[in-house]
Amino acid sequence: MSTTTSDDRSFFGHPRGLSTLFFTEMWERFSYYGMRAFLILFMTAPIAAGGLGFPVVQAGAVYGTYAATVYLMTMVGGWVADNLLGYHRSVFWGGVLIMCGHISLAVPTIGTFYLGLLLVVFGTGLLKGNVSTIVGQLYAPEDTRRDAAYSLYYMGVNLGGMLGPIVAGWLAQGEGFKQILAGWGLPPSAAWHFGFGAAAVGMFCGLVQYTLGRKRMPAAAHVPLGATTPEQMAGSRRTALRVVIGVIALAVLAVLAQSLGVIHISATGVAGAMDFVLFGVVVGFFGWLFLGGTWTPAERKRLVVIFVLFFGALVFWSTFEQAGSTLNLFADRNTANTIFGISYPASWLQSVNSLFIVLFAPVFAWIWLRLGKRDPSSPTKFAIGLFFLASSAAVMMAAAMAASGGAKVSPMWLIACYFLQTVGELCLSPVGLSAMSRLAPARVAGLMMGVWFLAASVGNKVAGRVGGLFESLSLTTIFGGNTVVVLFFAVLMVLLIRPIKRMMESA
Ligand code: GLN
Repeated sequence: MSTTTSDDRSFFGHPRGLSTLFFTEMWERFSYYGMRAFLILFMTAPIAAGGLGFPVVQAGAVYGTYAATVYLMTMVGGWVADNLLGYHRSVFWGGVLIMCGHISLAVPTIGTFYLGLLLVVFGTGLLKGNVSTIVGQLYAPEDTRRDAAYSLYYMGVNLGGMLGPIVAGWLAQGEGFKQILAGWGLPPSAAWHFGFGAAAVGMFCGLVQYTLGRKRMPAAAHVPLGATTPEQMAGSRRTALRVVIGVIALAVLAVLAQSLGVIHISATGVAGAMDFVLFGVVVGFFGWLFLGGTWTPAERKRLVVIFVLFFGALVFWSTFEQAGSTLNLFADRNTANTIFGISYPASWLQSVNSLFIVLFAPVFAWIWLRLGKRDPSSPTKFAIGLFFLASSAAVMMAAAMAASGGAKVSPMWLIACYFLQTVGELCLSPVGLSAMSRLAPARVAGLMMGVWFLAASVGNKVAGRVGGLFESLSLTTIFGGNTVVVLFFAVLMVLLIRPIKRMMESA
């Protein structure tokens, strides 16, 4: 079943399975970020221009809820892999759903638009966390190559993140492609749907290469580690069936109530409800984890570590994910977007983070590998990551001051900010993925990876809300607020380093 062993070193010193997972995730992120790059623009574009003609408030609400739900669903996907399908099959079917989602989005009707988003949400839930879990399963628990492996893998994530917007964005919006369409006798307003189509093709490529690399997957990826007996499997099936029936019943009720005029479901209403859902999920999940779960004392200590890292990540993503909200608006409204006298679209600056990751991830992978046993602990790297993020927010505070008179500032401010953010991200994100895979009890490995992305889900939601304050608060207040909050938690993380390290060593 599996040909990959922990001492296989044929992919840059790592098992060959890592290359399969690298490219699977690269294509998945190609489709995710490719589509995300123009999603809000498509929703707000006038109907005559092929868009949906949504007011910006509605578009923002749909966008924020979509991004938060995508990451929230990785927890469900993790449970499904742990208890029903196993990791390998979950990733495959997740990819299939994502591809179908983008195909649905490529069809120009409002119904297929929402159906497409829903399919991408469920598909990413099944794929994203589980593909990250399999990376960890390639290594023996004590293998020191794990952090370096996640740094390499993270480069795949961002290679997709960089190329997706360039390709899908050009198809959806580029003037050159619109002319090609006109040459084919098609209306240029149809261009958006070729962008969605490109995302579907990207996911298809990912599926093909994932299937070809099936044999390189570790044995653990082929079994649901949390349901090893027939009784446990039957129990999982019952739980899944109940949840599916419950969700379908709720959806039918909601649609009925809406059509009878009893309730009015609006995008902004759903976005508001989502704030409460996320809060409830975080409190409910950790409440269950610490009060309800049956863990050994060693596992319990590791779960405390996971909780602290989760919280650090939540703070990190809340500011970091503002790249798509406040920083994007700053790029659009307050930045002089010209280079050597030639102007470029503000959205190009969205690629800078991924570009820096691609450039620097190998450097970080090398550093962690070189340090070997002297490699800093995960909480130390988290604290460093938070300090870099605070410094990036401080740079933006200075940029906001420079822009306060209404002057358009140099793009170098944003580029400097993204550079510092990227260094912080490289200290925290691949390290967090790696820590989750190392610390989680094996039978809940998928679920715990989902918890990592729950932090990203909340972060995206907060980032969306802060973006909503762009016109009501001064920019120095927003960026100053970011700086102070992140700095506070960076210092807190420093104080926690020793106790957390002690817990990790004794667990
Ligand atoms: N950009 C990274 C990815 O897409 C991290 C996203 C996140 O976890 N917030 O995987």
